[in-house]
Amino acid sequence: MPEVKNPEYDAIVVGSGPNGLSAAVLLAQHGLSVKVIEAENTIGGGTRTKELTEPGFIHDVCSAVHPTGIGSPFFRTLPLKDFGLEWIQPEFPIAHPFDDGDAVIASISLTETVARMGKDGKHYLNLIKPFVDGWKSLSNDFFAPIRIPDNPLSLARFGWFGMLSAKLLANSMFDSARVKAYFAGLASHSIIPLEKSFTASFGLILATSCHAVGWPIVKGGSHSITTALATYLQSLGGEIETNNRILKTSDLPSSKAILFDLTPHQIVRIAERELTEKFKNKFLKYKYGPGAFKACSMDKSRL
Ligand SMILES: Cc1cc2nc3c(=O)[nH]c(=O)nc-3n(C[C@H](O)[C@H](O)[C@H](O)COP(=O)(O)OP(=O)(O)OC[C@H]3O[C@@H](n4cnc5c(N)ncnc54)[C@H](O)[C@@H]3O)c2cc1C
Repeated sequence: MPEVKNPEYDAIVVGSGPNGLSAAVLLAQHGLSVKVIEAENTIGGGTRTKELTEPGFIHDVCSAVHPTGIGSPFFRTLPLKDFGLEWIQPEFPIAHPFDDGDAVIASISLTETVARMGKDGKHYLNLIKPFVDGWKSLSNDFFAPIRIPDNPLSLARFGWFGMLSAKLLANSMFDSARVKAYFAGLASHSIIPLEKSFTASFGLILATSCHAVGWPIVKGGSHSITTALATYLQSLGGEIETNNRILKTSDLPSSKAILFDLTPHQIVRIAERELTEKFKNKFLKYKYGPGAFKACSMDKSRL
């Protein structure tokens, strides 16, 4: 971007999802002036919580369960509790039910989970325990940009298993169809066919995080995560504007830097004039994955 003389802000962040707000918080913590601009009339992106059914009943619209929120190395450094964020840990974070009424049920306790897995318990323990024990450094490495890892050995072990397809890993590690199905259910969060390489990594992260930090939901709904981030940001002097959909960079106040909490094609549309052809072509090659929705079924007799 060309240098801006006397900019109004050091940085503008377009989009107020959890990542946009986190970026803004980090900049504000370093004393920079920052403004977040959001298209909708509420902040939060995928963490929005709304009254979608009956008045007084709030629903998480996208994200609902937050192992990577409670396990985030960056969130660990923030005083989000002081700004209203409260995690709720369910007694049983994961259940994979079967047609015959049986289920694989995971607790935060690895020992309790293993005890319910029969013969496959020891295989699950051998696979997951080293990752659970090394979660702190492993999570620093997972969520950081590419750099020399905190714990290269642990990351290399993760890479060794994680590069496999979920199907191959489950078939080679477990004997019972139940535990294989449990692992497949976790890896399916990738929304990628389970015979593709690297799908095992999704299953490993979700299983490990369950036993390392839990799979909490948020009191008041997921929106409380971004409300806490936004309130903390404002306490640091950061500004937030809603109801302003940015269509071109000329819609933005002047700033030294612009950060986009958006997807590649959106960024090309907004910064068409500023980006080089090479950069734009790279972004336009990005293929969006399938849309996702959540389905919830309930026994009619209990309604
Ligand atoms: C159905 C579903 C279920 C999910 N479940 C989980 C889960 O259980 N746990 C979990 O951890 N994650 C879950 N996720 C993923 C999680 O929601 C995302 O990883 C997260 O929201 C990404 O945050 P972000 O800040 O990168 O972007 P987003 O949350 O997408 O935020 C982008 C923001 O930019 C705004 N915006 C867009 N265009 C413009 C514009 N032109 N001008 C200004 N603002 C603009 C949008 O309104 C939005 O507020 C789920 C996602 C989906 C879709």
